Amino acid sequence: MKNLVYLLDAPGREFRAVEEEIGEPGPGEIRLRTLRTSVCQSDVVIWNQGLPRIRSWPAVILHEASCTVDAIGPGVSRFAVGDLVALGCDIPCGDRDCIYCGDKGTGDWTSCPNTQATGHEFPGFARRYAILPSWFVDLGPIVKFPAAIGPDLACHLEPLACNLEGMTRVNSCIENRVVVLIGSGSQGCYALQSAQAMGARKVILVNRGKSRLERALRDFGDTNTVGLAWDENIIERVREECSPFNEPHFVMVNASAEPAYRLATALMGYGTVLDAHAGVKGASGKPRIAHEIDLNTDIHYKLQCFQATHGSTMRGIGLAAGFIAEGRLPRLSRMTDASERFPHGRLLEAIKRASDPDSLKVIVEWD
Ligand SMILES: [Zn+2]
Ligand SMILES: [Zn+2]
Repeated sequence: MKNLVYLLDAPGREFRAVEEEIGEPGPGEIRLRTLRTSVCQSDVVIWNQGLPRIRSWPAVILHEASCTVDAIGPGVSRFAVGDLVALGCDIPCGDRDCIYCGDKGTGDWTSCPNTQATGHEFPGFARRYAILPSWFVDLGPIVKFPAAIGPDLACHLEPLACNLEGMTRVNSCIENRVVVLIGSGSQGCYALQSAQAMGARKVILVNRGKSRLERALRDFGDTNTVGLAWDENIIERVREECSPFNEPHFVMVNASAEPAYRLATALMGYGTVLDAHAGVKGASGKPRIAHEIDLNTDIHYKLQCFQATHGSTMRGIGLAAGFIAEGRLPRLSRMTDASERFPHGRLLEAIKRASDPDSLKVIVEWD
């Protein structure tokens, strides 16, 4: 049968629609029909400047996807034709004996030297159909949702999973705690909704641009949420909002910029957990952002915790699947407004809309 695939020949180009032949799934494989893809900020970066992990072009990008199972190969029992599924980005390396990704591995795919990701080394979902190999079906980030959840909500699986990895890597740092979120883009808004769902005492959302902050507060704010526009007094203003505590309990960096790290480290106090969630990458690579820590007074005596998360494993995927299926983020659909929905034929416009300063989650429709 014919497949529709959108190829990106090089950064900055138009997407080129091609027809390719696609066969039936083999033993242990499944064939998916794409229903929705949403645009990650990494897709915007790939379109603008490429990515070292994409070693050969043309590329098939987009990794945030919800699909229907279109056909199953011999021996597949976990999935049936018609199932609604969503997928994660970081995937096993495909070696079933790998100590990270294999059948008996730890599941820490992102630690594997041969780690791969959908839309990077593995072709993404800018295509109508995809066949998943058996190792992906058995070990990879693919989650079945009840049909009532629908493809729009299911599509949030991957970005929400990455976010929840950051908020749960250290136990008990959100519930009944003061949470500071630096950056109110899509990861900041997932974090805000998740913190609310997890029972945070207060959430302080900090952002440089006013338009995005206003949208985040309007759509996701509540009586325990405070928004602060970033100015020269931001450290003092965040500390004031933490009162009666002297410091936040959890600080998450959701903005890919060195000043976000400077602010986060300045807010560290007694027992603060910092999640370095957004990496900083420029045209000349990954800049060094140095910060001195006293392992005795800061780490031991003040119980500070510096940690990081990027990407997601089955742990985060499982958490996100639960949050979505149980309706724990009831305002999730507000991540996408009418100006952020595009048919697949307008892929480039979708990528460009995702780079606007007020945009949260751009969805591309395939059905
Ligand atoms: Zn993503
Ligand atoms: Zn591996």
